[in-house]
Amino acid sequence: MKELMQKLKQLDGKGYKAYKSVQGHYKYKNFNLHLDYVQGDPFASPSKIRVVIPAAKREVKKTWLETEARKTATEDIIARKVGSAITQGNFFIKGSGKSGQILFDKPGQEVLERSAVQVSPESMTVCISVGLPANGRRINGREAEKLFSSVIPQVINNSVFKITDEEIQKATQLADQQEAIRAEMQTNDWISFIANGSILPRESGISNRPMKNAVAFRSPAENEVSINIPHRVEPVKGMAIKRGVTLIVGGGYHGKSTILQAIERGVYSHVEGDGRGFVLTDRDAVKIRAEDGRKVTGVNISPFINNLPHKQDTSFFSTENASGSTSQAANVMEALEVGASTLLIDEDTSATNFMIRDHRMQQLVKKDKEPITPFIDRIKQMSDQRGVSTILVMGGSGDYFAVADSVIKMESYVPYNVTDEARDIMRKNPLERDMTADQSFGDVTKRSFKQNSLQTKKGKNHKTQAKGLTKIIMGRTDISFDDTEQLVDPSQTRMIAEIIQYLDRNSELGGKSLAELLDDIEQQMDRDGLASFTVFKNQHPGDIARPRRYEIAAVLNRMRTANVTQK
Ligand code: ADP
Ligand code: MG
Repeated sequence: MKELMQKLKQLDGKGYKAYKSVQGHYKYKNFNLHLDYVQGDPFASPSKIRVVIPAAKREVKKTWLETEARKTATEDIIARKVGSAITQGNFFIKGSGKSGQILFDKPGQEVLERSAVQVSPESMTVCISVGLPANGRRINGREAEKLFSSVIPQVINNSVFKITDEEIQKATQLADQQEAIRAEMQTNDWISFIANGSILPRESGISNRPMKNAVAFRSPAENEVSINIPHRVEPVKGMAIKRGVTLIVGGGYHGKSTILQAIERGVYSHVEGDGRGFVLTDRDAVKIRAEDGRKVTGVNISPFINNLPHKQDTSFFSTENASGSTSQAANVMEALEVGASTLLIDEDTSATNFMIRDHRMQQLVKKDKEPITPFIDRIKQMSDQRGVSTILVMGGSGDYFAVADSVIKMESYVPYNVTDEARDIMRKNPLERDMTADQSFGDVTKRSFKQNSLQTKKGKNHKTQAKGLTKIIMGRTDISFDDTEQLVDPSQTRMIAEIIQYLDRNSELGGKSLAELLDDIEQQMDRDGLASFTVFKNQHPGDIARPRRYEIAAVLNRMRTANVTQK
């Protein structure tokens, strides 16, 4: 540390570029500091540092790393502590531009594998970004000394050296319990589980935190199951949703979309206190919605759309500007293509003509003049022929009673099982509509992306940059995916940007189907870690978190530059 302080003293008042000379690593009493990347000027993105705390200074218990879920939970809880230490420290470092900033990738409500904190048997590593202090464009050595002699050590002392073993253990135990529930779901063919007492609604449309004074979840008796979980005596009870077709019905404003959104997020684990700690969903569940205006490239949407005007080929369908129904059809087919086993659909965000067509309309508009085979004619085939379940929010059409295995009614935020009532109604009022769509769902065509789909070059360099949660700048074009609702953290978006650049740099697309490509990407994340996709493998890799394959695919599928072949 002395060495760094001396350097900073000497640099005081010099041009900003001279900061480059501090790149390197420094020994502190309780940790090692790595200055991996030094920004070129005070307005550029902040410098990247890593603090590595050897296990000799802060013990790493073997049990914390025993499973992947525990390791992620350990890293997550420490990252939360580091984030709070920075906010609560309320540090002020003078500086122009971005200088003086201290940035850290603090987790949100989801517990994701991320690069911000890495724990191994040998050490804990904390990745922080700092704006090296400047006056105008000159180095402010005194403020830099404060940053490295006082602020950073305080942050580490108030996090890594303050968090107790019990706090970490508690997080790993929650992870064990979540994994136990997931295992039980697998054994019993449940695609979603919502524990009694869960808090589903969020504080507001822009907040992912639990609503205060919400009505706690309570399972209908018919759906209630009891699961033994580790680290606690009494089993957890709650509602299980079985494979097959489940309808969620109910009056407007009675909590239908809220429960579906909680189910959507259940593909991830949530932190203690979130209200969704024991809300878990099939990890291969994909939210499907209409998304008019999206680009579609070479997708076989013929199970849903045929005989378009002007004879457009729907078995290899491309458009720069999809309609509501064609976009929703493409979203379904793309999800199936890469392995979705459950589809989640809300009528609020669906195209009506994609979802339903009733008897009267069938009489007026004859089949050969209607390109769409509505979802109601395919939902059971997908379940029976392809093993793909659906959970569907549908308050507007009782026709779906005919194809539902289970019907849940939301009333004042409380669910009731009304499957028998719905069957009764069907018996008394049989469907008149013509259900004679062809009997087989048909094929899900595999595609592979040609290498020239990826155009990350900007001048001589590759450039991909995430802009918030739903946009990536790739070379000279933008990829937008505002309606990809299960992407939850901008760090996931940054990771997808890194993956795209990696695939281009290494010409990795050639020949593989999209599903195979995603298998390879997931294997590499498992085996070599998230950082292995970045150019800073053994340094601060940037603030990245693990996305699911479905969201990686969603981004690739929305590239305006995509070029595909079918297999
Ligand atoms: P629907 O889709 O049935 O029209 P929503 O799910 O959009 O209804 O819910 C309507 C409103 O009720 C929302 O503002 C939501 O936050 C709130 N809400 C939903 N569930 C609960 C609950 N369990 N407790 C309190 N408020 C809730
Ligand atoms: Mg709704």
